[in-house]
Amino acid sequence: MPNLVLLGIQGSGKGTQAYLLKKNYGFDHLNIGSLLREEMKKKTDIGNDIKEYMLKGDLVPDKYIFSLVGPILHDNLKGVILDGFPRTLKQAEFLEKRMPVRCAIYFELDDKIAKERLSHRRVCQNCQQNYNLLLNDVKKDNKCSKCGNPLELRMDDNSEAINRRIAAFHDETKPVIEFFKDRDSLITIPATKKPEQIHQEIVYILGLAKPA
Ligand SMILES: [Zn+2]
Repeated sequence: MPNLVLLGIQGSGKGTQAYLLKKNYGFDHLNIGSLLREEMKKKTDIGNDIKEYMLKGDLVPDKYIFSLVGPILHDNLKGVILDGFPRTLKQAEFLEKRMPVRCAIYFELDDKIAKERLSHRRVCQNCQQNYNLLLNDVKKDNKCSKCGNPLELRMDDNSEAINRRIAAFHDETKPVIEFFKDRDSLITIPATKKPEQIHQEIVYILGLAKPA
């Protein structure tokens, strides 16, 4: 099982694709954004330090990311999907030294559509499942279909934070896309296609075999 990196502006459907790959092929989904939010909730030292960046929509400085993911990454990991990391060129270099990655999949999406999607995003704080009122079937009772917890707007999904995250993507994460392109390991997929269609495309490109 290859290790994958998912890249794309927030709202491009990284979480949905990670979920489908996990469900259908048994990948491990390493969602750095939810690890960071978890640290905030638990009020750890890192959590307290990164809170302001997170709530404003600024990128969390590399040093915090490194201390969080450093102990997790190693070169015999297999079948791991990295979501929300690397977000800067320094993070991409950090990753390259620690763990082999088969490819980075970039979900390309227009800023305007991303903003529209993010304002419709809901999350289950219990099991971290993401929903989108535009894409997913959210039941009328507005509860998580996996665990029944009420769905909430993510605390960093306000319009100012969304704009700052999109700006940070253009400034800091675009070079990461170039980084993988330079290594011939970038796959670009238009994120406007239907989630299931995108999933099938990924399966086909990677030549994934259904687990027995
Ligand atoms: Zn849930």
